[in-house]
This record gives sequence, C-alpha cells and structure tokens, in this order.
Amino acid sequence: MAQNLLIELQGVAKSFQAADGTARSVLEAVDFTLAEGEIVALLGKSGSGKSTLLRIMAGLIPADHGKVAYRQRPIHGPVVGIAMVFQSFALFPWLTVQQNVELGLEAQGVPADEREKRADAVLEMIGLAGFGGALPRELSGGMKQRVGIARALVTNPDILLMDEAFSALDVLTGETLRNDMLELWDGDKIPTKGILIVSHNIEEAVMMADRIIILASDPGRIRDEIQIDLPRPRNADALEVRALIDEVYGLMTQRPVQETIAGAPTAAHLGYRLPHTDIGRIEGVLDLLADAPFDGHADLPKLAEESELADEELFPTYEALGLLGLAHVDKGDITLTSLGQHYVDADQARKQEIFGQQLLTHVPLAAHIRRNLEAESNGTLPEKRFLELLEEFMDAVEAKHVLEVVIEWGRYGEVYDYDYHTGRLTLPEDSEI
Ligand code: ADP
Ligand code: MG
Repeated sequence: MAQNLLIELQGVAKSFQAADGTARSVLEAVDFTLAEGEIVALLGKSGSGKSTLLRIMAGLIPADHGKVAYRQRPIHGPVVGIAMVFQSFALFPWLTVQQNVELGLEAQGVPADEREKRADAVLEMIGLAGFGGALPRELSGGMKQRVGIARALVTNPDILLMDEAFSALDVLTGETLRNDMLELWDGDKIPTKGILIVSHNIEEAVMMADRIIILASDPGRIRDEIQIDLPRPRNADALEVRALIDEVYGLMTQRPVQETIAGAPTAAHLGYRLPHTDIGRIEGVLDLLADAPFDGHADLPKLAEESELADEELFPTYEALGLLGLAHVDKGDITLTSLGQHYVDADQARKQEIFGQQLLTHVPLAAHIRRNLEAESNGTLPEKRFLELLEEFMDAVEAKHVLEVVIEWGRYGEVYDYDYHTGRLTLPEDSEI
C-alpha cells in the first residue's frame, strides 16, 4: 500500500551546532510514516525534537541523513500541499484576518478575486465569518488560532502539520477548536488527507489520533507507538478512552532503559537536562500525593485532574521527584518513597536538608558545582563557567534553563549560594556537608 503513504521518513538524523562548534544530535534514526486517512499524534518531552521533525517534514529545514519523502518524492524545500499551524499563531499583526489568510495563496500565485473567495469560504467554515476585517490584536487567543488554521486550510493542504496548535489556549477553548477540527476532518469537509499533531497533552492525543508516537529525548528517536481504533467523536469519560490515556501516561513516564542503571533511581549525567520545574511545584505535587485521597499512591491522570495542572507542568515535576528519590514513577502511577513521606512530614529546615542531600547524591551537575566551589580558596566561581560546561551538551537557551534549575535547587538545598547581581556561585556561610 505504498501509494497510500503521504510522508515517509527513514533513518532521519539531524544535528545542530552547539556553542563550542561541536555537533549535537537532536534526532537519530527516525523512521516514520503518515498514511492517507490518518491523524497521528506525536508526544515527547520538551526538547525531544518534535518541532525539528515537523520542520523537516514541511521542507523548512533539511535532514542531515536519511530519506524524507512526500508521496514518494524526496523533499528538498517547502512543499505545496503541506501546511503548518504553529502554537504561537504566527500572524502578521499589521494585516487583517482576511489578509493573513490570503497570504499563503498569494505565495502560490492565486489571482486576487479567487484568493478572496477562498478565504471567505474558509473563514466561514472555521467560524470567523464577519471577522475578515479585524486585526489580530482584536481577537482572543482561540480566535487567533482559528485564523492560523484558516491560513493553513485555505491552501487546501494535502497534509496538515500542527505544532502544539492548541497548547497556548485555555482548556475549554482548546477543546472546542479541537472538536471543530475533528468535525471538519471526519465530515470530509476539508480535502486534507493526513494530519500530524504535536502535543503535550495526552488526553488531546488520545481523543484525536488514530495512532500515537512517543519520541524519546537526547537524541530524539521513536520509542513507542500505539494504534487507536476507537471511532470519533470519542467520549473522554469512556472506559476505553481512560484506559488508553492511562497506557500512554505509563509509556511517557517509563524511563528509557539506557537511563537506568541497575535499580538506581536515576543515572543522570553531568549534561542531563534537568526538568524545568520549581520547588513550589515539586512540594505542591508531593503534598497532594501524600494527602487523601491518594495517601502516597496515585494514578497519574487522577493526580493531574486533582492538581489542575497541565501535563507539561506535571511531567517535569514527576521527573524531578523521581530524580531526587522522593517519589517513584512507573507505568502511569506515582508512589511516594519512604524518604518522600519523611520529607512531607519534616519541618522546613529538615526539608531543605533532605533536598540538599538528595541533590548532591543524584544530580551530578549540583555535585560538580559544589566540588568546584570547594576547590576554590575563596569558595566562589562565576556561573559562566558552568554555563559553558552545559553548552557542550545542549544549545545556549537550554543550557541557561538547566543552570537556572540547578541554581534554584542548590540554593534551596543550601548546597551553594548565588548572587543574582554578580552571577557568582558561592559556598554557603556555614557549610559542612
Ligand atoms: P521540541 O519541539 O520537542 O520541544 P525542538 O525540535 O524544538 O524540540 O528542539 C530539539 C532540540 O534542538 C532542542 O534542544 C533545541 O534547543 C534544539 N534546536 C532546535 N532548533 C535549533 C537550531 N536551529 N539551532 C540549534 N539548536 C536547535
Ligand atoms: Mg516544539
């Protein structure tokens, strides 16, 4: 059934240059297909290469290795027939809604009167009739994203690539827009033959997709795949749907084998990308988990519901809890460890002490910083030194994030101090760890 393949990737690899000039592998040996009639959802941690993969498929950037084909033809540049929708909406603020939507057609050389007709039709279809003359700033986030979708659909795309298109919207708005999209798709109201959505939201993926692909990080490669054969529209409360959501949670929180060393909670290395989460959230989730109704053990979807936090906020927090040995995440469940229970019951000073100890034991970067400070006669070093170290493993923006995290955690655990104004790390006054 090769003729039904819309997109085919084989052995795709991509590296970017790190700050020190070395290549850093972002995607490795990715095989992927999008077949006619499919909606595929791509899930994966932030930084796992999802957007990069989409940009390769859209012909916006080339792969370094491997086969990248659209309907059997190699992709060498932007492809007419493949349209993209972005999380940031990416509208031109000085153009009206109508002009923003017509833009894609202009690039294709469609004459003005036909552009207008097609834009009108799409605007009506997507619930924007009457808004053609509005400027983006007059619109709510949900309406802006409708414009983003209209701009993609007006080109009658064969394939639609949606990069976290619903993530910037509030829950209700995102859901409405998702359902509207599915109605267009399932009702054959759009000529599009295949959709690939990148999402952070597990429920969204399960509600929409015929197939879910999970990308592992560092470098990104496909780790799991789940086929979903339930008819749409799906009921989020149906047992099968809940079971699938559970299963995907389980796969998402399963540590890749390489990252685990013989039962040790983690085997993070110096350049490990520490999860973007803060102490407040770590302790908030820990408290929630310790209290009734969970009493130390929770099903992740239930905890998500109870916490009213989004998956993209929760996953980094689960990862932090696992790293620090305060909770154990396995197959879609999270369990407080005995240390975690002890932590919850401890007073503030003891909490910080435990935090510091766990940090030094399980986060090599924190231990490395501490050791280096101890080796200095005045016990202080500029943060720049550690930033440069991190930049050997990741790009500058990511390195900065990771340093921010390790600084916040280290200050909390009283492993080192940090002066925001001088950008220097220092051993704490009365340190004796
Ligand atoms: P995701 O969409 O899964 O969050 P991305 O594909 O945006 O991930 O990025 C994957 C990794 O590649 C990140 O570490 C990111 O910083 C890096 N990266 C992406 N684009 C570039 C680029 N143009 N130059 C250097 N690094 C990049
Ligand atoms: Mg992305």
